[in-house]
Amino acid sequence: MRMSSESRQRITILGATGSVGVNTLDVIGRHPDRYELYAITANSNWEMLADQCCTFEPEFAVLVVEDCAQQLENRLLKAGCRTRVLTGKDNLCRVASHEDVDVVMAAIVGGAGLEPTLSSAKAGKKLLLANKESLVMSGSLFMQAVEQAGTKLLPIDSEHNAIYQSLANGAPGHAGGVRKILLTGSGGPLLRHSIEALAEVTPDEACAHPNWKMGRKISVDSASMMNKGLELIEACWLFAVEPKDIEIVIHPQSIVHSMVEYIDGSVVAQLGNPDMRIPIAHGLAWPGRISSGVKGLDFTGLGDMNFEAVDLTRYPCLALCQEVARQPQSCAIALNAANEVAVQHFLDELIPFTDIPIIIEDVLEQTSCEEAHTIESILALDEEAKNRAVEFIRARRPVS
Ligand code: NDP
Ligand code: MG
Repeated sequence: MRMSSESRQRITILGATGSVGVNTLDVIGRHPDRYELYAITANSNWEMLADQCCTFEPEFAVLVVEDCAQQLENRLLKAGCRTRVLTGKDNLCRVASHEDVDVVMAAIVGGAGLEPTLSSAKAGKKLLLANKESLVMSGSLFMQAVEQAGTKLLPIDSEHNAIYQSLANGAPGHAGGVRKILLTGSGGPLLRHSIEALAEVTPDEACAHPNWKMGRKISVDSASMMNKGLELIEACWLFAVEPKDIEIVIHPQSIVHSMVEYIDGSVVAQLGNPDMRIPIAHGLAWPGRISSGVKGLDFTGLGDMNFEAVDLTRYPCLALCQEVARQPQSCAIALNAANEVAVQHFLDELIPFTDIPIIIEDVLEQTSCEEAHTIESILALDEEAKNRAVEFIRARRPVS
């Protein structure tokens, strides 16, 4: 096993070219004495990965798409950068579980993140979990792997990170006198949009989140509040609670990132500017603290902070998640798969925004409720649901 000469933590970032990945590199770059990069990965964005390799000089860079890996290799050769280039999905798992790695940031978007994230959980790495879809798809299997390997799992999704901090280091369930979890959500860019006009919303409008700058898939999920629904399911697994123990509250300013109410009436919250570098720095340094580059809150300049109940007629995707959170695993897999397909079709301007919940509902209706105990069965159910969603969309499209 390779020994780190200065006892710096060696990190793999899965999804380094995405919004969370770039924020993670920003925090790591502030602490070269504490962290060094083992590997960074992306799907196809070889140009950004090349720049990151030249700046951070990780040992490995992985690109899933082979042609792009070739481009990256040529660029690195020209630049005199010694990072070795790998390609293919198997190598994502390899750099996520290698014995030389201490910490893994799981920040691939969607179900594509499941296998590499799970492989790092099985390998007992300190795991910083941003990829919520992997937990939604494989909750029980995933948490078992974490327990069996003694993995330290730190939530990076800002709400779950806030809950983790408010629970005194993530103490699960009711053991610590918890009455309920208050999961906050901004309501996204369409909170005040007329419901009748939602069918006309464009991808750019749906992605224009008022407080957070994120990748396009999670931005659409935020506009539909599917994101909050996935977070509800994620929170049930992470904190060993049931959907009824979690109340979703709209908080348009995204300053309170979530709260925990205790049986004595105390409410503990985590507050901060809406900047992912805060939970990332928390996860990296846990149980210590490091600077993240984010300014503290200016309380006197904050203005109003509002809290509202959710109107489920505006957010049918959230209502579907609340139902699915009480069902066996196959339903969460189908919901997540259908949503991924529907969101991609919406981003490609092939379907209106309002078709997203209709597609998911149709796929759910055709899904049998069953548990999924193996990765093979989870991936098969995922593929089946994606195929169904594509078929349903094709059947609905007007013949031109
Ligand atoms: P982005 O879309 O910005 O980035 C996604 C990353 O995953 C990119 O590096 C991309 O590579 C890579 N990727 C995409 N598809 C594949 C694939 N098939 N195989 C391997 N790698 C792939 O996403 P975000 O950073 O916004 O989100 C990442 C995850 O974190 C999501 O699960 C999201 O829900 C979660 N999250 C994000 C937050 C945020 O603030 N952005 C907040 C909380 C959670 P390439 O660039 O080559 O396409
Ligand atoms: Mg979140």
